Amino acid sequence: MGQLMGFLNIERKNQKERSPLERVNDWNEYKEAMTEEGARKQAARCMDCGTPYCQVGVTLNRGTSGCPIHNLIPEWNDLVYRGLWKEAYERLAKTNNFPEFTSKACPAPCEGSCTAGFVSDPVSIKSIERAIIDRAFDEGWVVPKPPLRRTGKKVAVIGSGPAGLACADQLNKIGHQVTVFERSDRPGGLLMYGIPSMKIEKDVVDRRIRLLEEEGVTFKTGVDVGKDITAAELKKSFDAVVLCTGAVKHRELPIEGRDLQGIAPAMDYLTASNRHLLYNEPLESDLDACGKRVIVIGGGDTGEDCVATAIRQGCKSVVQFGKHGRLPDRRTEGNPWPEHPNVFSVDYAYEEAEELFGKDPREYYVETDKFTGDENGHVTGLTTGSFKKIEDGRAEQKKWDADLVLIAIGFRGAEDRLFGDFDIEKDPSGRVILADERSYQTSREGIFAAGDARRGATLIVWAIEEGRKAAASVDLYLDGKHSLLKS
Ligand SMILES: Cc1cc2nc3c(=O)[nH]c(=O)nc-3n(C[C@H](O)[C@H](O)[C@H](O)COP(=O)(O)OP(=O)(O)OC[C@H]3O[C@@H](n4cnc5c(N)ncnc54)[C@H](O)[C@@H]3O)c2cc1C
Ligand code: SF4
Repeated sequence: MGQLMGFLNIERKNQKERSPLERVNDWNEYKEAMTEEGARKQAARCMDCGTPYCQVGVTLNRGTSGCPIHNLIPEWNDLVYRGLWKEAYERLAKTNNFPEFTSKACPAPCEGSCTAGFVSDPVSIKSIERAIIDRAFDEGWVVPKPPLRRTGKKVAVIGSGPAGLACADQLNKIGHQVTVFERSDRPGGLLMYGIPSMKIEKDVVDRRIRLLEEEGVTFKTGVDVGKDITAAELKKSFDAVVLCTGAVKHRELPIEGRDLQGIAPAMDYLTASNRHLLYNEPLESDLDACGKRVIVIGGGDTGEDCVATAIRQGCKSVVQFGKHGRLPDRRTEGNPWPEHPNVFSVDYAYEEAEELFGKDPREYYVETDKFTGDENGHVTGLTTGSFKKIEDGRAEQKKWDADLVLIAIGFRGAEDRLFGDFDIEKDPSGRVILADERSYQTSREGIFAAGDARRGATLIVWAIEEGRKAAASVDLYLDGKHSLLKS
């Protein structure tokens, strides 16, 4: 283990962040990696707990507690503390196919349940993970490792987000021939076109795709399964099919004025921005925040990414509406450790908005009643009430000016088309694919599902876990034996 009483005697430090006023001028990652010495010092805070809550990965009170992929956190903390970086990387790679994504963008449920956090501050697990994987790439330890033999079995993975990539990686490692079909022109799913480059730079995604290709995974981009190739054709040509198609069917806001120009779903906006940066594609004026008063409806992480993107595009102002109230500064009695702490934080976009405009952009309990527009059919503003009126009987009306409104109120699940194409069933919520919790098989034999398409919109780390588990079940289905550990 680390240093005796290290968790009390050493102050928790995180990766540094670039200054907000500097980073808003570019689209590069806003965090800086921790130095090796810094990571070793932070790893010294780990107590190597008998029951390491950091790695349990369960859902408690609807939040994630501990690492869903059960990263061997105390083990690699100890190896980092002792300066054994290569061994630390090897331990990390055992459970996590893509630490370069999680160490940048995971909300770190491991830290939320770390035992050190019960009495002091949790261990800086995510920063240590980042230091390990950065070092591994720098030292050339992450190299293609194609399988030594091929099984002759062919698997089609539909969708190249983290679930599809993890599933493909796992199946390829044990010799199955994997083809990943992706309807976009570039693999990566939301890692490529949803999450902004300030959180995950796109060459980091490309680097992993290249590694997978060198290991023998085939990527077929620009192929919309169900249209360009039918489900029947796939079933005929492959021994198993895994649906990792995500859950980005967005939730709408069907109120007066919704059809005005200048109101867009968040994903259209974020995808257009990422494409503009990757290909220099011109930005449609209604998806460009430059010089505009921007309102983001929806208080979640997607909304936050819209705020940060609007700032970089040079918006005149930005406000973000949330349905709920401000979170408390500390855990409440109803949200004890080791649950994920639902506490107030000033994340990157909010810090930037505050520095630029002198105010946190978040407004709470806001209910949007209607949009207003001009004679050309373009949005000019909106009227809001308050969700709080339900609690205290007060209905407060307010008018807001806006030139661009982004709707980020969540996702409604997997695309309907999928169910007909593959003749599979929906789960009882009617939003995602019904697939057995253990076997990941859908209602059709040989058709499996994983990631957001099965679980509903969630996190990269859950998508990786789902991809790994589905791969293990596919392998059992193909070979009749367990060659892959489920996590
Ligand atoms: C804006 C935004 C920011 C986020 N930020 C974070 C974050 O910071 N940290 C975090 O942990 N999580 C974050 N998430 C959540 C995370 O990105 C998702 O949970 C994760 O990407 C889900 O992975 P997936 O592989 O299941 O699906 P996706 O990443 O959605 O990939 C699905 C892929 O399937 C393809 N596809 C769909 N249908 C077909 C078809 N018929 N034929 C061929 N291809 C098809 C799609 O084009 C897509 O590429 C964010 C999500 C969004 C929207
Ligand atoms: S819970 Fe925290 S202190 Fe305990 S083993 Fe995990 S990282 Fe270390």
